[in-house]
Amino acid sequence: MTFFDKYSSYLHSRSEYLNTTTSFTPSLNNMLVLFLVDPVYHTDRLSCFRPRRHGNKTSKSEALAAFCVKDKASAPDPKDVDKKECSICLSVITNKKTLDKCGHSFCAHCIDQAFEHTKKCPLCFTVYGPLIGNQPKGNMFDSIRSTSLPGFGSCGTIVISYRFPNGIQGLEHPNPGKPYEGTDRRAYLPDNWEGRKVLGLLKKAFNQKLTFTIGQSRTTGKDNCVIWNGIHHKTSSTGGPTCFGYPDPVYLKRVQEDLAAKGITE
Ligand SMILES: [Zn+2]
Ligand SMILES: [Zn+2]
Repeated sequence: MTFFDKYSSYLHSRSEYLNTTTSFTPSLNNMLVLFLVDPVYHTDRLSCFRPRRHGNKTSKSEALAAFCVKDKASAPDPKDVDKKECSICLSVITNKKTLDKCGHSFCAHCIDQAFEHTKKCPLCFTVYGPLIGNQPKGNMFDSIRSTSLPGFGSCGTIVISYRFPNGIQGLEHPNPGKPYEGTDRRAYLPDNWEGRKVLGLLKKAFNQKLTFTIGQSRTTGKDNCVIWNGIHHKTSSTGGPTCFGYPDPVYLKRVQEDLAAKGITE
């Protein structure tokens, strides 16, 4: 029995139980596969299939969502899946594309579409390619100052400048088509070996659009602003941790943990 035989028999019995008559369309099946990859994102998209609710009866898509979440951990071994069938469109594979790390095959069109959302194998979740964020268009510069930061008396200072002009939000942002407010930010690192290493990692994060995002400013409360995206920066050279400044003996370690959480390592 294949993975999708198991699914369809489950869905069949479930739909009988719920006394519903609508059959599952290929695109809903398609959504179920994607749902397994990223339940949070796809719950939104599944809701477009949601039938009207009758009284307090659970809707079919709610039942499916509950089923998918419950069953994600116990998804069948990929080896059980019939290799001739594309697990995304549930048809015989056309224009076969085999992923190089895990060896799973799909229709080229299906897997290309799935990778546009997240570069993970839909069956075994092997990661392909770097994580890319939704940071808007901007620039990152760095320069050296001869003065030292508190706690790093024996070296100069790396000064990083980020510049984001105002712009219009794209489809990847919270309010596509609406304007957003840009920002100019400055950050400081000691100009020693570890500081230069962190600078290299921060450049990598910036190039992968991970350093900033668009959302509500924590300081002004204003929405649709370019804001930090979870990678701590020292925006002041002095004042200690409470002022986002130095001295802070654990900062270089902490920022590398922030970066690693986003897949940015040496
Ligand atoms: Zn396919
Ligand atoms: Zn795979």
